[in-house]
Amino acid sequence: MISTSKSRLTTLLLDLATHETEVHHVEEVSPHFRLVSITGDGLRNASWTPGDIVQVIVVGAALLGPWEIRSYTPLALDPETGTAEILWYVHGGGPGSDWGASATAGTSCRVVGPRRAVSLLKPRRPLVFFGDETSFSTAIAARATPSGFQDVRFVFEVDSVEESRAVLGRFGLSDAVVVAREPGDDHLHAVEREVVGAYRSAGSGLLTGKASSIQHLYRALRAAGAQGRQVNNVPYWAPGKKGLKGH
Ligand SMILES: Cc1cc2nc3c(=O)[nH]c(=O)nc-3n(C[C@H](O)[C@H](O)[C@H](O)COP(=O)(O)OP(=O)(O)OC[C@H]3O[C@@H](n4cnc5c(N)ncnc54)[C@H](O)[C@@H]3O)c2cc1C
Repeated sequence: MISTSKSRLTTLLLDLATHETEVHHVEEVSPHFRLVSITGDGLRNASWTPGDIVQVIVVGAALLGPWEIRSYTPLALDPETGTAEILWYVHGGGPGSDWGASATAGTSCRVVGPRRAVSLLKPRRPLVFFGDETSFSTAIAARATPSGFQDVRFVFEVDSVEESRAVLGRFGLSDAVVVAREPGDDHLHAVEREVVGAYRSAGSGLLTGKASSIQHLYRALRAAGAQGRQVNNVPYWAPGKKGLKGH
């Protein structure tokens, strides 16, 4: 009796906190990137600002678990059809990545949001935007702001320059600076030169992606005279940690 009411309560809480959605379409953009469209009534009429995230339950369907939730940034969200499109990076080392790799049209899923992670409307332009493969969807979402990609210098650290250039080019970001990761993070010197150089003429920065790279660049920008409020940071992942939420 008690366990029945407990499971009813759990179902109710889950219903209140999440929306039932379904994968509408999946496109294999490249070996490590999938464009996943998710659709559902809960996303219809949703208020969405470019940079907002949805959180997808990638393991489990009941609050009593086990369950895992991961954050993703739609590159577009159409409130009329209730469809969010996410560029999903398949890094191969976690349940979120596995979920994106195996999702097919008709896969059902529960999501939370949209909710604020970073507003792409807020940072002043010109702007330098730093990130990695997990930030491509966020970067592309800037297309949906009134100024689009105008006056934004995009700088990314990536595993594969060739694959990343092809993916970014497909979404109108062929001008982005793409730097290959090196052992011991030696490439961060080159990234720093690009980011600090662009910041000197931009005066505004947004750092996303790997937490340690963000820390490195934030310190470099502060040393170059940036004030804290001129640079926003949103860590998307960190080695050995799971399911970062953005703040
Ligand atoms: C606000 C926000 C917005 C995000 N938007 C997007 C998005 O639009 N598209 C997208 O693809 N991702 C996005 N991410 C990143 C994504 O949520 C993380 O990569 C997440 O860790 C993936 O979950 P997982 O279950 O695959 O790995 P987890 O279980 O979280 O982590 C397991 C292991 O994998 C490692 N790992 C996690 N990510 C990577 C990576 N990129 N490369 C190498 N190793 C990794 C972890 O460090 C850990 O050691 C976003 C994250 C945040 C916080």
